[in-house]
Amino acid sequence: MKKLLALLLAAVMTMSLLTACGSSETTADAGNEETQAEAGSEEADAGNEEAQADAEANAEEAADAASAETAALSDGVLTVGTNAEFPPFEYVDDNGEPDGFDIALIKAIGEKLGVEVEVENMEFASLVSSIGSKIDVAIAGMTVTEERQQSVDFSDAYYEAVQYVILPADSEIATAQDLEGKTIGVQLGTTGDFIATDDIADTTVSQYNKGVDAVNDLINGRVDCVIIDKNPALVFASKFEGQLIALDGAQFDFSTEEYAIAMPKGDADLAEQINAALAEIKADGTFDELVKTYIEAE
Ligand code: GLN
Repeated sequence: MKKLLALLLAAVMTMSLLTACGSSETTADAGNEETQAEAGSEEADAGNEEAQADAEANAEEAADAASAETAALSDGVLTVGTNAEFPPFEYVDDNGEPDGFDIALIKAIGEKLGVEVEVENMEFASLVSSIGSKIDVAIAGMTVTEERQQSVDFSDAYYEAVQYVILPADSEIATAQDLEGKTIGVQLGTTGDFIATDDIADTTVSQYNKGVDAVNDLINGRVDCVIIDKNPALVFASKFEGQLIALDGAQFDFSTEEYAIAMPKGDADLAEQINAALAEIKADGTFDELVKTYIEAE
């Protein structure tokens, strides 16, 4: 960003020099006058601080726009990280391709933005740190948390969720207190993991890369319960009907969470574009269609 700003100022200075050489004021872009002041012309020397501040803001805006062009969308491809182990939001379909609500949503966003969407399937715990290098953004039923906000920005929220507790059908666990001292299966680096590790007393937490592996260990009796987001919990529990039940986390005093798309920190232009596309998708009925197809059909 600094480099860009410097380049931009250099360009503006060249322009202002050219303008100064030419006799006609009309060759200067009217909108550029303040920027010229910033670039060291006489008006700026005259001490018009307001103009200078304006020029700085303009230059910054221009640099932002320039960086947006060169960053996430410039190559016409939005590279999206996910962890396709989280039905119905993302899973691997019968053809071995990532599919699910999130995948369909980000493809619809890509369509609105006129870019191709390429999905990279990776471990959930690697997503946040890969944004800005291996991937442009991540969509993975990812909850907005303050900790993640230290390293990434989030789009507007698109789904409200809560952690659920999957239990053997005959389990006596029914309250937050009952979870104390238990062995709890979670997906590594998720909000379910944080609750089990940080918020419940004396737990032994078994962390898995895939939620389904935690559920398999619940079936095998290696853990007492699994804490995982509502919709995947319902999908996993339904695969073992009669053996497992999934209880609403509200019963355990878990607070609600919001899913959003994780994006590079400080890329305001990308955020604006993604949020605008998301708003359109909500307004034109596409979003509700996806909910029907992927979530309510489960
Ligand atoms: N919503 C949870 C989180 O953000 C789990 C997401 C996931 O496992 N894909 O931590």
